[in-house]
Amino acid sequence: MTVRETTRTVPYGSNSVSRGASVAARTGADSDSVIGCVMAHELGHLLLGPGHVPDAIMRASWGTGDLEAIRRRRLVFNRAQNTVIRRELQG
Ligand SMILES: [Zn+2]
Repeated sequence: MTVRETTRTVPYGSNSVSRGASVAARTGADSDSVIGCVMAHELGHLLLGPGHVPDAIMRASWGTGDLEAIRRRRLVFNRAQNTVIRRELQG
């Protein structure tokens, strides 16, 4: 996944945590919150598979609106993803 600022895209890979923190610092988002959402996104792949959706935390990239949602603690899994995750965790 990537975190996208208005004109730049930040790819996530081995240095995703430091880049996420850097983006957070420049955008005013809390770095711990951004890193937490990155971790939730990646854990989401373990439970939901490799795909992305056009909304919610499993978007392929996050723009300024998503960073604002992170700041307001509103970037979450959508209802369908919640259902699958709960089913997967219950075995
Ligand atoms: Zn992803």
